[in-house]
Amino acid sequence: MKAYAGKVLKIDLSTQKTSLYPWTDSDRERFLGGKVMAAKIIYDLLDDKIKPLSEENIVVISTGPMTGTGAPASSRFNVSSISPLTGLITSSNCGGDFGLMLKKTGYDALIISGKASDKVWLELTEDSISFHDAKSLWGMHVDQVQEALPKRYGKLVIGPAGENQVKYAGLFSGERTAGRGGIGAVFGYKNLKAIATFGKIKTQVYDSTIKSFYKNWISKLRMHPLTGKQLPTFGTAGLLTIMHHNNILATRNFNAGRYNDFDKVSGESLKENHVIKKKGCITCPIQCGRQVKVHDKIVKGPELETIGLFGPNILNNNLEAICRWNLELDEYGMDSISTAGVIAFAMELNEKGLWDNGLEFGKIDNLSEIIRMIAYREGIGNDLAEGVKFLSDKYGGHDFAIHSKGMELSAYEPRGAVGQGLGYAVSNRGGCHLNAGYIVLFEGLSMNMNPYKTTNKAEFTIFSQDMMEACSAAGQCVFTLQMMLPKDILEKPNSGLTSVANKLLTTPITAFIIKRLNYMKSLPIHLPMIPHSKGIKLATGMKMDLGRFKTIGERGFNLERMINLKRGLKASDDGLPKRLTHEAQAGVSDAKVPLESLKKQFYACRGWDQEGIPKEKTLRKLGLYDDQCLFLWKSEKLDADITDEVTSKLS
Ligand code: SF4
Repeated sequence: MKAYAGKVLKIDLSTQKTSLYPWTDSDRERFLGGKVMAAKIIYDLLDDKIKPLSEENIVVISTGPMTGTGAPASSRFNVSSISPLTGLITSSNCGGDFGLMLKKTGYDALIISGKASDKVWLELTEDSISFHDAKSLWGMHVDQVQEALPKRYGKLVIGPAGENQVKYAGLFSGERTAGRGGIGAVFGYKNLKAIATFGKIKTQVYDSTIKSFYKNWISKLRMHPLTGKQLPTFGTAGLLTIMHHNNILATRNFNAGRYNDFDKVSGESLKENHVIKKKGCITCPIQCGRQVKVHDKIVKGPELETIGLFGPNILNNNLEAICRWNLELDEYGMDSISTAGVIAFAMELNEKGLWDNGLEFGKIDNLSEIIRMIAYREGIGNDLAEGVKFLSDKYGGHDFAIHSKGMELSAYEPRGAVGQGLGYAVSNRGGCHLNAGYIVLFEGLSMNMNPYKTTNKAEFTIFSQDMMEACSAAGQCVFTLQMMLPKDILEKPNSGLTSVANKLLTTPITAFIIKRLNYMKSLPIHLPMIPHSKGIKLATGMKMDLGRFKTIGERGFNLERMINLKRGLKASDDGLPKRLTHEAQAGVSDAKVPLESLKKQFYACRGWDQEGIPKEKTLRKLGLYDDQCLFLWKSEKLDADITDEVTSKLS
């Protein structure tokens, strides 16, 4: 099939043996690539009992069919594994040049298994794979190791945090990060410092008219108010001001949704006082990244999540310090969201007398040192390196331990956007805004769907989750999906049309339409504001339409759910801390996340039972029903069958 390199390489670090992993055109049509492909491989290969930090765990690094075809924002690649932070599947999407170069080397994906007996780095070219001694690289910061590896290569590396198995250490490609879930620690455990690839193979596409199609797509992205104006002008940080006004800016360890000094750390302030220029991923017309000056060096600037969580959430209004910590986190190789979440929680533990650790809200002079101590697991850094859930198990404070399934939440305070709260709770990788469906965009960030009401939130969350899964599987940035929000409405927030559109979002007719869309296996149309399905068709030649595209996302979401269920996930794990579900948001009447009722709607709309287990007919629809998935229903059903049989025999 066109647009694929055609090979998946399995690399066993223990034996230093490699082999090709079977992956057929039928697999490509069903799982596309990226994180959905990775979920299928993990589902097939991994025993449900394996530990995240073990030889048995695997890391799947996968590109999508759009990678390398010139599609907008298509340099993204995915990394999936069993997370040391959550014990569940995690996936992390990354920009940088690694994915593009991997495909040029002739591989769609790599599967890394085993554990090297000593520190190694891997070199992959079109016709060879070499295992190099990495002793001289061990200990190096992310930027140093990238500098030390061959210049023209695409690189994926870890820093000291990964080596020291900090549970939220990330992987880095250029200035971009696969940050969430701690896959950097899995690399560190496996003694793998880096992978570097180089090749010159060109990706072939099916339909030669694709160039003009992409040209048109790019110009639409440039004309859209979000992807053509807001993101390029202010970066993701441009959302901070509106988050404050809408009570969704996480403040003081999620005590509140507003921060009085928000303007000192806003996207506008970043642009005015710190940004030198914008810079983003290769092949991206949006360019949401920023470059700032730290210690006279021009480096990557902080994103919204880093600013929100290292700003308002720890009561810090010093943007310069955030830029500095952002650089330090990148050099040590750690996820900024989890690091900031851990620090905020430790501050509140200290304040409440549960853990005397020297951390205080608003006190920032010791934070550079704390970040270093986490990366090297020194002193209190050793506990902080384990994450919020671990800290709450050790020191208490479960009610204000801001995580879901063990992963620290992003910067959106969900009591001001309850659909986003649902998303955090049911996300497969834990407290992540993207895997949540990013429905906060509808709840005040761009559209104005009533953020406190539960109406239609489950339906929109599912639609959005599935679309983002599919987009990511294609190898494109999920921000390209923002184009589906109607331009005319975003440009005229006060018009009568906008007010009608916002009201329509919560009507039964909209629920009916979205539900139908969610149930459909195929919908034989392409939409101009979601060009992804047509792009995939032109690039690969596979049968593709809007319905199939969305179904690929749904398949991926359900597959990840099945992996988690296999690993012991229960409905009660789809949770949020009590602060968000039972305490009113400071300063805003009685806003709380009504999680149980939202979950009920979500499970029903997803075709799951009340325990959050996909029903047989859901799996049959997705083509996921086979002998392997019988584990889902085993205990209750088999026990009930046996009990019935025994009862009837006795009587
Ligand atoms: S929108 Fe931003 S994150 Fe996405 S590909 Fe472009 S620069 Fe990268």
